[in-house]
Amino acid sequence: MTLKELQDVCLQLSMPKFTAKQMAQWIYEKHIHEINEMTNLSKANREKLDSLYCIGCLAPLEISKSKDGTVKYLFPTEDGQMIETVYIPDGDRATLCVSCQVGCKMNCIFCQTGKQGWHGNLTTKDILNQIYAVDQILMEEGGTLLSNVVYMGQGEPLDNFDNVLKSTEILTADYGWAWSPRRITVSTVGLKTQMKRLLDESECHVAVSLHTPIHEQRQQLMPAEKQYAIADIIELLKQYDWSHQRRVTFEYTMFGGINDSPLHARELVKLLRGLYCRVNLIRWHRVPDVELNEVKAETMEHFCNYLNNHGITSTIRASRGQDIWAACGLLSTKKQLNQNA
Ligand code: SF4
Repeated sequence: MTLKELQDVCLQLSMPKFTAKQMAQWIYEKHIHEINEMTNLSKANREKLDSLYCIGCLAPLEISKSKDGTVKYLFPTEDGQMIETVYIPDGDRATLCVSCQVGCKMNCIFCQTGKQGWHGNLTTKDILNQIYAVDQILMEEGGTLLSNVVYMGQGEPLDNFDNVLKSTEILTADYGWAWSPRRITVSTVGLKTQMKRLLDESECHVAVSLHTPIHEQRQQLMPAEKQYAIADIIELLKQYDWSHQRRVTFEYTMFGGINDSPLHARELVKLLRGLYCRVNLIRWHRVPDVELNEVKAETMEHFCNYLNNHGITSTIRASRGQDIWAACGLLSTKKQLNQNA
């Protein structure tokens, strides 16, 4: 709950308004597990709260560990479905890739989550539970705490806008986790209306899934292009200042013989000219029943060099967690949902 929602609870239960701040401190700062541990609240108020609410987090149902240190967690949702979350340790960075929906509506042809179809939005609680629970596990293991959160797991974050924004508010607010918004990246295929709201109402970094600079081809790879053309999205992004700490990144998954040619590199430079941004090149991993090819390492390097030589900061993102189906585009809980049906 946000502070405002906690204040509403206080109002409903005839508790003093300042109790909301005390509750937030117990939950988000002290990470207690029982309402009874809120010792600066009266016993009567604790009992009232306890009869209506619960705090704490749901533990993952399954944990898969990759040989490269990546860990995939299977979490239950409030409504009995399942989602996956990926922990990616990398030097002094400890990143958690969270899901926002069960499956996805966007139907990008190269993505395993898209193949699963859409089975519902996660609540703010479902989203935060992934972060809260993994942080707890890391704490118990005595390891590093999470340094970054990326909304790049299952689902299109901006298709679940209100719950995603509420979760980033709780992560960044002084009453909440008090994280810098620069530790958070929200990714999107480019849902324009919600994206404008994200840019105006939050300070988090933004990642746009681009994948090809050519409109007709993007329509084939990502049906969302039919409604929200990438050129319009880039025009929108150009209206904001990216020269300081806030960052916009373009995710470019490479498919052999599809979007890896010199023509694509040239068009990409043209499309992004004038926007202070960076490009992450991502190796695509084979998905069953998808007729696309993996890109050659050498081609990726040439593509990356071309972008860098033409003023677009570009890196090849190391692929992580492929052996546990945790790499980009491989998340799916279709099997578990079918088993439960
Ligand atoms: S790539 Fe992202 S937006 Fe596209 S189908 Fe997969 S999860 Fe959805």
